[in-house]
Amino acid sequence: MAAISNTILALIKSGDHIIAPDPVYSGVYAFLKQIINIYGVEVTYVPSGDLDAYRKAIKLNTKIFYGETPTNPVLSLLDLKAFADIAKTVPGAISMCDSTFASPILQDTLGAGIDIVFQSCTKYLGGHSDLLAGSMCTSDPDLFFYLSEHQKITGNIMSPYTASILLRGIRTLPIRMEKHSDNALQVAKFLEAHPKISRVFYPGLPSHPDYEVAKKQMKKFSGMVVCDIKDGMQAAKTFVQVRLRVIEKKLARK
Ligand SMILES: *Cc1c(COP(=O)(O)O)cnc(C)c1O
Repeated sequence: MAAISNTILALIKSGDHIIAPDPVYSGVYAFLKQIINIYGVEVTYVPSGDLDAYRKAIKLNTKIFYGETPTNPVLSLLDLKAFADIAKTVPGAISMCDSTFASPILQDTLGAGIDIVFQSCTKYLGGHSDLLAGSMCTSDPDLFFYLSEHQKITGNIMSPYTASILLRGIRTLPIRMEKHSDNALQVAKFLEAHPKISRVFYPGLPSHPDYEVAKKQMKKFSGMVVCDIKDGMQAAKTFVQVRLRVIEKKLARK
């Protein structure tokens, strides 16, 4: 969140306009709703992944096109190349994308033409549940210099210890993303065939509404799987609170 909030604050001024998706990662939503408003910046929300809605939301003062793909938690997708092209039609505007759920291994977000890419390194890049970190990447040298200076001045700097264990995590990132993806695809297929599951959301399943976009821009489909359980909330609670614990105990015994 520090990488995302610091970067947005560095690039907007009062009177600017941001187009952001809804749903979006809950922390980003809270940041836009509770902090950005104070600065006199206007935010228009569009349905996640809806390129036409982004196009229609453009104003003379649009400064930031914000996207996320795959989204947390419902795993909808944004066509990165098309999104970057829309942002390029507005002079001075900047496209940003949160690629946390894909990691840099499964999706070349900068290569698709996006100006700034975020990762929550707390998740896949760290990989060992022992650090909190975030990254901001750009291939534009001027933007990088400007944002680095802003980062230094505002003191938004990762601790050296965190940086060292993050590097350790990144060394195994490619092999972990492969395995996460292979495992998740198997789980997704299992759940899709299960009689007590009504719907599975996984970008690597042909039943996913954005499967074609996923195949175009992702090497594999990452480790997150979402499903709806038949019989509603009570059944879902039983699944999480009772049944998952049983599996946990079985694994612990082995
Ligand atoms: C977790 C997450 C974040 C925030 O990351 P922190 O490291 O917890 O600040 C941002 N975006 C997405 C998509 C996430 O899943």
